[in-house]
Amino acid sequence: MPFDLTRLLEVVSGRLISHADELTALDSAIGDADHGINMKRGFEAVLADKANILAKPLPEALKAIGMALVMKVGGASGPLYGTLFLSLGKELPAEPTIGDVARAMAAAVEAMKARGKAEIGNKTMLDVLGPVAAELAGNRATFGSVRKVAAASAEATVPMKAIRGRASFLGERSIGHMDPGARSSQLLVEAVCDALEGRP
Ligand code: ADP
Ligand code: MG
Repeated sequence: MPFDLTRLLEVVSGRLISHADELTALDSAIGDADHGINMKRGFEAVLADKANILAKPLPEALKAIGMALVMKVGGASGPLYGTLFLSLGKELPAEPTIGDVARAMAAAVEAMKARGKAEIGNKTMLDVLGPVAAELAGNRATFGSVRKVAAASAEATVPMKAIRGRASFLGERSIGHMDPGARSSQLLVEAVCDALEGRP
């Protein structure tokens, strides 16, 4: 699966940065109104380190992105997104096949579950990344099917009651709002699909 890492980094970072206000609005409903600000700070740091990151082979580049996110995003989501990229960097070879991506995503989701002591269904980013990993493992994944799973899974967090993260403090009152981290994971997955498919 040959791809343009420069483009991937720019499209993904740009997508999260440009949706900061929407993510913060979601977090203001069931959290502390900083998720967009956190993600923007993290991906601006990634862009600022672009030359250094792009000089590395894919696994090392992913680890560098993970480290930047751990250091700059903060909150609950920083260590979790950091774990996602660090795990992908650990699992992927320099030139991954779709099978490699499926295996790496499954391992990354397991590492994130362990890091945040969360399960699928707790109304978190894992409720998007878990189903996306399952779709990739299913052998019939296309860019379209992965985008669809990500969108439907983010939407499916609306009726969930939060069990992990700040939103869990609200109990029943967390029901009826999309989880901000689920939405940022959807944006991330869509941006990766767009970049790999050559869309703007
Ligand atoms: P904070 O909650 O510290 O303010 P953010 O607002 O940046 O951090 O991120 C909130 C998002 O992090 C939530 O919407 C949720 O998706 C995710 N999250 C929080 N706690 C966990 C956890 N234990 N496991 C997985 N995801 C989590
Ligand atoms: Mg928050």
